[in-house]
Amino acid sequence: MECRLYCGACCIAPSISSSFPLHPHGKKAGERCKQLTDDNLCKLFGKEERPDVCHDFKAAKWVCGEDSKQAIEILTELEYITA
Ligand code: SF4
Ligand code: SF4
Repeated sequence: MECRLYCGACCIAPSISSSFPLHPHGKKAGERCKQLTDDNLCKLFGKEERPDVCHDFKAAKWVCGEDSKQAIEILTELEYITA
């Protein structure tokens, strides 16, 4: 599936362990990424500083659900399972 514009769920629910601009120690699960704009777009999109994990994450129905609320729930559960 195509990523839903203005969703932003995968920029909030999962943790990121690598260091990147504004997050020198990575990002905790459930923490809103500081690189996410108010309308939920990535300020680092297309830039070298964007974490590899963000680049590698691909939208898929089973993880993105029907809307951002559902995506947050699924991603939070996955984060819990893989913690
Ligand atoms: S959770 Fe899925 S649809 Fe939402 S921003 Fe991430 S990739 Fe896109
Ligand atoms: S760097 Fe961009 S894609 Fe990665 S979590 Fe932050 S806003 Fe989302």
